[in-house]
Amino acid sequence: MERLQEVLDFNKKFVENKEYEAFTTSKFPDKNIVILACMDTRLVELLPQAMNFKNGDIKIVKNAGALVSHPFGSIMRSLLVGVYELQAEEIWVVGHHDCGSCAVQPDQVLEKMRKEVSDEVVDTLEHAGIDLKNWLQGAEDVTEGVRLSVDRIRNHPLLPKYATVHGLVINPENGELEQVTD
Ligand SMILES: [Zn+2]
Repeated sequence: MERLQEVLDFNKKFVENKEYEAFTTSKFPDKNIVILACMDTRLVELLPQAMNFKNGDIKIVKNAGALVSHPFGSIMRSLLVGVYELQAEEIWVVGHHDCGSCAVQPDQVLEKMRKEVSDEVVDTLEHAGIDLKNWLQGAEDVTEGVRLSVDRIRNHPLLPKYATVHGLVINPENGELEQVTD
């Protein structure tokens, strides 16, 4: 709560001082790209700066691991909305080295969940046929994860032919990019 109050106090001044003016742009990406990236904290500013993108240039969709884990989930929906409604023509999937999502051990996460929400809840979900381990599982390795997501997007039945899809991996320490699909 204390942190939220700090932010609200800062925000009041930010708006009063019209500091937003430096960020004024439209909802359409000037460079016609929508990026799917990982939510890793090291990439918050590093990713756009290492690619020379500023406010208004691109759309960024983020999740744990930059993964499209379901063809009709919210990530795929966001990418398609970006293409159909918001003038994106390219989709770039950007994974990164040392990704916490790849390192996720579903068994360990389930253990933690059992402590927080009770064994009963976890057991009930599993009995209802929800495969929690599979659901929590990240990619085996970052390149594989990016390739898998790129494949899912490229082969999506609702992706228009004009949209191109690329896969990249970024180094979260120095911002170096590596292209992993053609
Ligand atoms: Zn990550």
